[in-house]
Amino acid sequence: MEIGKCPRDANKMLYTFESEKLSNGIARVSLVLKCPVCNYRVVVERLEASRDKDGNVLIRRFFTESKPA
Ligand SMILES: [Zn+2]
Repeated sequence: MEIGKCPRDANKMLYTFESEKLSNGIARVSLVLKCPVCNYRVVVERLEASRDKDGNVLIRRFFTESKPA
């Protein structure tokens, strides 16, 4: 699979950020490669930010492998 190209239709995929708030106070930000034509998407990286009981911001980082669906 060529990075940056949609495996379904070979169109150029675009990087977008998606953020969401989870119910437990965690903010999740995902870096997503997305095909504008068929909406095929690959999560490239994911961050989750939360606060501990002392108010310190904790950031956890997740990497996902891009592979064909
Ligand atoms: Zn596509």
